[in-house]
Amino acid sequence: MTEIPYKIYLSEKELPTTWYNLKAVMKEKPAAMLHPGTLQPCTADDLKQIFCEDLVKQELNTTDRFIEIPEGIRDFYRMYRPSPLVRAYCLEKVLDTPAKIYYKFEGTNTSGSHKLNSAAAQVYYAKKQGITHLTTETGAGQWGTALSMACAYYQVDLTVYMVKISAQQKPYRKSVMETYGAKVIPSPSDTTNVGRKILAENPNTGGSLGCAISEAIEKAICTENCRYVLGSVLDHVILHQTIIGQETKAALEKYDIQPDVIIGCVGGGSNFGGLIAPFMGDKIEGKNNIEFIGVEPASCPSLTRGRYAYDFGDTGRTTPLLKMYTLGSGFIPSPNHAGGLRYHGMSPIVSKLYHDGYIKAMSAEQTKVFEAATLFARSEGTLPAPESSHALYGAIQEALKCKETGEEKTILFGLTGTGYFDLTAYESYNNGTMTDFIPTDEDLEKGFASLPVVE
Ligand SMILES: *Cc1c(COP(=O)(O)O)cnc(C)c1O
Repeated sequence: MTEIPYKIYLSEKELPTTWYNLKAVMKEKPAAMLHPGTLQPCTADDLKQIFCEDLVKQELNTTDRFIEIPEGIRDFYRMYRPSPLVRAYCLEKVLDTPAKIYYKFEGTNTSGSHKLNSAAAQVYYAKKQGITHLTTETGAGQWGTALSMACAYYQVDLTVYMVKISAQQKPYRKSVMETYGAKVIPSPSDTTNVGRKILAENPNTGGSLGCAISEAIEKAICTENCRYVLGSVLDHVILHQTIIGQETKAALEKYDIQPDVIIGCVGGGSNFGGLIAPFMGDKIEGKNNIEFIGVEPASCPSLTRGRYAYDFGDTGRTTPLLKMYTLGSGFIPSPNHAGGLRYHGMSPIVSKLYHDGYIKAMSAEQTKVFEAATLFARSEGTLPAPESSHALYGAIQEALKCKETGEEKTILFGLTGTGYFDLTAYESYNNGTMTDFIPTDEDLEKGFASLPVVE
């Protein structure tokens, strides 16, 4: 048998030329996005007022399995892709497991996460359409950083509404974005009506992702030649992230490796959806029997405890309605949760697959997640992002099960990023002040009460 190397690299020539549109393969499609005013399915024209034309086409495409990656995006990808697929030999040894563990590592670029894969695509299409200015929100800062890098490369102006408390806690994230030329505004701010309204009601608020989204959308609508872009959840974002799954599949095939389990962390669902897409396509067509597991924080459990319902994407209730697993747009995540993955909703594609039984989900408490992260850092060397460490936690659980049963399963997980900007969270774990928060059913009811009545 061929020896499997520590890292399986694809060459630049092997960079995938297409994204994988899983919706074309799904037997039942996710439910249509609804216009928040009319409650009718959104048309391309509705969506074009907020999003770029090519992205709207991708969002609504349910027929083409492969969508070509334009050369102008592949040029950008070549700066940091293909990303490595790593055999976690050192972790296997520490766990003393017969399982074989692999991870696809998306943290090798400066922004530190997979988000750059969609940022590059979204800015490319905006530029192509002649858009000169983009707005977005960022919470933990990874998306804002990724978009700043892409906007610098394609020369498009960018305004980032950064959740105020994050801007204060992560000043270096702000510095990175500014270095790439973005304008960073702590949210809520006095630059939008919605921001001024929130500040008038609650001058000392630290802000929230939902509120920053509302500000970024308002700013985009009020600025000429400007569009709003989003870093997760939507179908076109999942599509761009399938570069991860396409590369992983090609790398595994080089050594004839068949995964038994694929695990990803789920916030809005983009990295998980992108990693599993081509494998899931095969599963739907009866070509494999892989088990897929999404891992979410116990403090924000949209899949494991949410409702499958139409909901808004933002607190300001301005976005189209998405059918998804959600805790309600009024759900307020626990302030003591250190990592990302705090979004109330979930990708409609991932939601539909979960609803139809194609994927499983589990939740993890944050001290357990940091325990896994520390074990990984000390064995494999890489300092993982807290978000990514949810997937890592799931993979370790699977590997420990194999230790008990003696099964030699092949486990693959997505390591979405590095933890360099999350050292405040690591510090609180290290000094024992990190706590766990699990919302009660009563807490969740408050969020569900905010769900719009659609049917
Ligand atoms: C944003 C982020 C996530 C979660 O987002 P998804 O859309 O669920 O992939 C996970 N890991 C890292 C490092 C992130 O920055």
